[in-house]
Amino acid sequence: MLEHVPVGVFVKSVATGVYERVNRTAEQIFGRGRDGWVGRSDADLFPEEQARFFRLCDQETAESGKTMVIEEEPLDTPHLGRRLLRTKKVPLQAGDRPATHIVGVTEDMTESRRTEKALRDSEARLARAVAAARMGVWDWNVETGEFNASNGLELIYGLAPGSLRTRADVHASVHPDDLAAVGEAMERCLGGENGGSFASEFRTSPANGPLRWLRVTGQAELDCNGRAFRISGVTHEITERREAEARIAYMAHHDSLTGLLNRGAWQERLVEAARHSQQGEPCAILHLDLDLFKEVNDTFGHPAGDDVLRSVATRLMSCMREADTVARLGGDEFVILRRGEDSSRETADFAARIIDELGRPFLIEGRPVTIGVSIGVVLAPRDGDQSDQLMRRVDLALYAAKGDGGRRFRFFDPEMQACAQARRHLEADLQRALRNGEFELHYQPLVDLAHRRISGFEALLRWRSPERGLVRPDAFIPVAEATGLIVPLGKWILEQACADAATWPSGLKVAVNLSAAQVCDGGFEASIAEALAAAGLAPERLELEITESLLLRETEDTVAMLRRLRTAGLSISMDDFGTGYSSLSYLLKFPISKVKIDRSFVLAMDERPEGAAIIGAIAGLCRTLGIATTAEGIETTAQLQQVASQGCTEGQGYLFSPPRPAVEALNLLATWDARLST
Ligand code: C2E
Ligand code: MG
Ligand code: MG
Repeated sequence: MLEHVPVGVFVKSVATGVYERVNRTAEQIFGRGRDGWVGRSDADLFPEEQARFFRLCDQETAESGKTMVIEEEPLDTPHLGRRLLRTKKVPLQAGDRPATHIVGVTEDMTESRRTEKALRDSEARLARAVAAARMGVWDWNVETGEFNASNGLELIYGLAPGSLRTRADVHASVHPDDLAAVGEAMERCLGGENGGSFASEFRTSPANGPLRWLRVTGQAELDCNGRAFRISGVTHEITERREAEARIAYMAHHDSLTGLLNRGAWQERLVEAARHSQQGEPCAILHLDLDLFKEVNDTFGHPAGDDVLRSVATRLMSCMREADTVARLGGDEFVILRRGEDSSRETADFAARIIDELGRPFLIEGRPVTIGVSIGVVLAPRDGDQSDQLMRRVDLALYAAKGDGGRRFRFFDPEMQACAQARRHLEADLQRALRNGEFELHYQPLVDLAHRRISGFEALLRWRSPERGLVRPDAFIPVAEATGLIVPLGKWILEQACADAATWPSGLKVAVNLSAAQVCDGGFEASIAEALAAAGLAPERLELEITESLLLRETEDTVAMLRRLRTAGLSISMDDFGTGYSSLSYLLKFPISKVKIDRSFVLAMDERPEGAAIIGAIAGLCRTLGIATTAEGIETTAQLQQVASQGCTEGQGYLFSPPRPAVEALNLLATWDARLST
C-alpha cells in the first residue's frame, strides 16, 4: 500500500539521521533510487545548507512530539530540476517516550502551484477586463438565495463597494419604472423560457445618483423539470449607447433648424389623426406658408432667413395648446395639427391669432421686416378622413389664401378642387400651346405726346387657342409664371418682338413685358443678347417693361443686371406705376428710363380733380429725375389733353389704337403718317 500511495513517504532515524525506508513515489520525486538513499543521511544526499535545515526540522519535530508541515520547500533534483515540495514530518514515538523516528510525507506541489498561479493571473486579467468594460459579473443561487457579485457590479450601479449583497439590494437599485419589466424578464427566465437565457435594459434608481442605463444578460441552469436553480450573468453600462440612440431618434423626428417635428414625424401624426377622425375624434389641420420669406432670404441672405424661421417656430409654439402638434415641412412651410378640434369658429380664431402673431415685424439686422403668413385649413372628418386627401385639400386652401393676396386664412371648400382642376388643364394646354405655336404678339402704339408721333409699340401677348378662342394674358400669365413655363415663353416673346421690330422703320422701339420669374431665371440676360443678335436689332430699340413685383424681390444681382442692360443701350420702364408698393426710392435705386402711370389714375382723373394732380406730381417728379412718363389707357380726347397738360411725355390707349396683330400695326403706321400729313 505504502509503495503505491501518490505521496512520497520516508522514515528516518532520529538518533543517526539516517534514512531507513523510502517508498517508490519518494524515489520518483527525489529522483534517486532506493539503494543510494537508504542507509544515508541528509548530509550525504543534499547540499550542506539544505541538509542542515532538514536536520533542524527533524530535531524540532522529535523534541516537540508534534507534526510539522513545511509548506513549500524548493529542492533541486537531478532529473526534474527545481521542484516545490510540501512535506509533513510526523514523530514516531511509543507512549511518552521520545520519538525514535521521523516519518516524512512529501508531495510534489510544482504543477499545482503553477496551475494555481496561472488561475490567479487569469482571474486578475478577467477582473481587469470586466472592470475596463464597465461590467459586473454575478450569480444567484435560486435555491439558497445566495447572491454573488463582482466588485464591478456596484460600480456600474453607482454604488459603494459591498452594497449589493442580496437580490433585494439589486432590486432597490433599479429605477422603479423599469422594475416590472426587469422582473418579468427574470420570471420568464426562471420558468425556463428561451432555454433559460434572459436580457433586459433598464435605468438605475434615481437614489443612486445620475441616471445610468444598464443592460443585463443572464443564463439559467435548469433542473430536470426545466426550472432554473441558478442564474449567472453580466451587467454592463449602456448609457452612452442609449443617449446616442435617443439623439438619433430625435434627429430622425425633428427639424434641426427649428427643433420642431419634421416631415416624417408629421406624416406619422397625421396618419394617426386621420385614423382617429374615422372613429369620430375630429381634428383641424392648418398649413402655413410665409408670404415674403423668399424675398427676405434673397435680400438678407440665408443666415438671416434661418433666424426668421427659428423666430417663426418660437412664435408658433407660443400659440399652441399642449395637445397641438406643430411641424416644419421644409422651406417656409409649417403645419399644425389640433386633435379634438371640430369647431370652425375656434379654428378660425386660432388661425387669425397666428396671422397676427406672424404678422408682427421680425427684426432682421436691426430692421423691422414684415413677412406675414397665409394659412389653409381643413377639418377632419368634415373635409376628409384620409391623410393624403386632407393634405391635398389643405394645400388647395392654402393656395387659395395665397391667391387672395396672402396674410389670410381660407378653409377648404369643394369649389377649390374644381378650380385646381381647371388650372391643371390650363397648365397642360399652355404647354401644348407653346409647342404648337398658338401664341402671337399684338402691338399697341406708344405715342410721343409733344410731336403726336408713334415712337414705338408695346408687344402684348395673345393666345389663339383652338378651344378657348383668343385669350388675354391676364388669364394665363400667372399660371405660366407659377409653372415656370414663363421662361421658355418669355424667350419666345423676346425673339418674336425683336424680329418684328427689325422690320419697322429704324426710329421705332418695341416694348416687351417681363415677368419677375423670367428675369430671375439665370439665362435671362443671355436670352436678350441672343434675341437682339438673331434679329439684328440695335439694343437702343428694345424697351423692357418691369413691374414693382420684380423690384420687391430686389437683390444686388437684379439691380446690377438692370444696370448692365441699361449700359448696353436698352431702356427700362416701370409698368403699372402706382398700383403696387410705389416706393419712390425705386426710382432712384433702379436704372429706370420711363414710368408708365397706371390706367387707374387716368380713369380717376375723370372722377376727381386730385386724379390729375397725382398724374401731374408723378410727371413733375420724373421730369426732375430725367425719367420719361407714359400715361396708360387713354380712351378719350379729354383724357389725352389732360395728361398732356400734366406733363406726361407719352400716351397709350384705345384712343390711338387697341393692340393689333403685327401686320395691322404696320398699316397703322402708314395711316398715322397720312393722318399727320393731312
Ligand atoms: P400692361 O403691360 O399694363 O399692358 C397694358 C394693358 O392695358 C393691355 O392689356 C392693353 O390691352 C390694355 N389697354 C391698353 N390701352 C387700353 C385702354 O385704353 N383701355 C383699356 N381698358 N385697356 C387698355 P392686355 O394686353 O390684356 O395685357 C394685360 C397685362 O398682361 C399687361 O399689362 C401685362 O402686364 C401682361 N402682359 C401682356 N403681354 C405680356 C407679355 O408678353 N409678357 C408678360 N410677362 N406679360 C404680359
Ligand atoms: Mg406693359
Ligand atoms: Mg401697364
